[in-house]
Amino acid sequence: MRRPVIAGNWKMHKTITEAVELAGSLKQAAAGIDHADFIIAPVFTALATVAAELKGSNLKIAGQNCSDQPGGAFTGEVAPQMLLDAGCSHVILGHSERRQLFGENNDLINAKIKAALTAGLRVIFCIGETLEERETGRMYDVLSEQVTQGLAGLSEEQMDRVIVAYEPVWAIGTGKTATSDQAEEAHSFVRGLIAGQFNLQISEQLRILYGGSVKPGNVDELMARDNIDGALVGGASLNADDFIRIMNFSGAN
Ligand code: PEP
Repeated sequence: MRRPVIAGNWKMHKTITEAVELAGSLKQAAAGIDHADFIIAPVFTALATVAAELKGSNLKIAGQNCSDQPGGAFTGEVAPQMLLDAGCSHVILGHSERRQLFGENNDLINAKIKAALTAGLRVIFCIGETLEERETGRMYDVLSEQVTQGLAGLSEEQMDRVIVAYEPVWAIGTGKTATSDQAEEAHSFVRGLIAGQFNLQISEQLRILYGGSVKPGNVDELMARDNIDGALVGGASLNADDFIRIMNFSGAN
């Protein structure tokens, strides 16, 4: 049995005051739900304040990115250890916005994943194909490269602290969700890749989240599929009512 994960990626939204208010509402709602792990990813500036608000709750906190370096003269960067210091247990790495807008490639993402795991964080590792890659039949090659290179050199113990998020780029922030068949097919493919790269036990234990326009109206159908172990939610995680409904999904295996 894989314990489901519902994670909210707040991207570059919310002031500290707004972030604490939303976190407070989620904390109350999460107190009564024990069927999943819950994670939210506020902006860097709000992390420590939100962590103080969530102390003692069953909501965990993630950074949205981190450096592959442990510290030093790297203006504008945040080291993995600093995320831990601010109260994070997790970090999101390899998000398609980081890949597309900030030029992050598989090698850099691999270095960041290693640095984050070495510091003691858990990693939500995002992968996903663009519409063009899907339509030109390159989806499986792209996913394969992202997984193989992104997770290269990780130990079995480190893999225990990795969650994968399959996020087809064409479904992020577009309102276009992958059908549950499309998502299940991709998740099952990724699980097979992990079995080949590591072993069957690791692949069976790995939690694979779906991300891309997850909403209250589609979460139950997605969560009912065998290989979908949770959701990484962008837009709908910014609204308390929507995210609380997603946290209360039904249909998990
Ligand atoms: C995301 O950015 O990780 C995401 C899934 O966004 P949205 O839910 O808005 O598509």
